[in-house]
Amino acid sequence: MNEIWNPEYETMSRDELRELQFKRLQMTLRWVYENVPFHRERWANLKLKPGDIRSLDDLHKVPFTVKADFKAAYPYGLFALPLEKVVRVHASSGMMSNPTVMGYSRGDLSTWSELCARVAVAGGARYHDVAQIAFEYGLTTGAFGMHAGLERVGVTVIPASTGNTIRQLQIMRDFETTVLVGTPSYVMHLTDVALESGYDFKDLKLRVGLLGSEPWTNQLRTRLEERTGMSACDIYGLSEVIGPGVSFECWNKDGLHINEDHLLVEVIDPETGEPVPEGKEGELVFTSLTKEAVPVIRYRSGDLAGVSYRPCVCGRTLARHSKVYARTDDMFVIRGVNVYPASIEAVLLDIEKAEPHYQVILYREGSLDQIEVQMEVAPSFFSDAVRKLQSFQQHVEERLRQELGIRPRVRLVEPKTIPRSSGVARRVVDNRGV
Ligand SMILES: [Zn+2]
Repeated sequence: MNEIWNPEYETMSRDELRELQFKRLQMTLRWVYENVPFHRERWANLKLKPGDIRSLDDLHKVPFTVKADFKAAYPYGLFALPLEKVVRVHASSGMMSNPTVMGYSRGDLSTWSELCARVAVAGGARYHDVAQIAFEYGLTTGAFGMHAGLERVGVTVIPASTGNTIRQLQIMRDFETTVLVGTPSYVMHLTDVALESGYDFKDLKLRVGLLGSEPWTNQLRTRLEERTGMSACDIYGLSEVIGPGVSFECWNKDGLHINEDHLLVEVIDPETGEPVPEGKEGELVFTSLTKEAVPVIRYRSGDLAGVSYRPCVCGRTLARHSKVYARTDDMFVIRGVNVYPASIEAVLLDIEKAEPHYQVILYREGSLDQIEVQMEVAPSFFSDAVRKLQSFQQHVEERLRQELGIRPRVRLVEPKTIPRSSGVARRVVDNRGV
């Protein structure tokens, strides 16, 4: 199981790695200073030049970049290369306002596939595997990134894309898929449909799941692994930084290794912007070290995790961040309490008889914000006495109250009541504004 795609970089000594990072950082800072007016002008206001950054520790002098900067620069304002040298464009899925637009040079595409090859191999994929990619092939980065990485490893890639669940299962059986790439919520949906339509995962050849694009808990991992028989690893990335390939789990599944030779990570207090100590949770901030078309400088990801530099049993020296359960923009505030959907998921999946499908509805009653958690339970459940149902409901409400600090209303619903998505699951519906 333990194979490393690029041992030279993935197991480099920390001292060598820091030296390499600093050399690449200097190049990147000079590159954006010369080619991106946005950065040059901001630094000029601070009387800052690339040469003022004399060590990795000086990086804090450079201002953060945030998603709004990408939106303001829409579409090509943050590009460091003219369009004629850009061979690919991706964009975020957000259609409410300007999407964030990403460009890749030929060199960037090569870097990207290298990083995703590491992800694939660490999760257990090998050249003789057959990988089915159930991410959407479109403007977003997930499918194309993993596609290139898996091909680089020599894996046979099936670009199944999203949707058409029965066909996905048919492909999985007939093409003898061994590696499945997708969002955890969609894979869970696949297992439901499989059950109903007579596909038995025991008859399939699935071995490895490379799952990501949304926060998910270890409880959901356990359910998925039980149902499918595959080993599921978390993969993490953001389109602004490069797409998938930012970080990945190894077989140890204890944090995600960050591709630090290409990306510098910082963890900051999201309120103050100050660094937090090793291991403590904060917002992940990324600086690209080798990107040509759209380098990112101290990009605030909005994702919360802690970073550890402890060596991993797999032999990689790359730092690890904890599983991202929450994005700062996923969080909702209800009656003054900060709530993350993932903490609700963790409670629900700890409860026996709960199905891994749930949705959180926020609404207003008079002037008071209310929270309702709808959870699916097995059909047999509804044949129980009303008293039993009520006591189960109260039990779940109490468990949630202990975890969240507020008591939500719990509504038990029949299977398939909650809408399924073929991409990223919609866990929270906020009706308070309407
Ligand atoms: Zn490891």
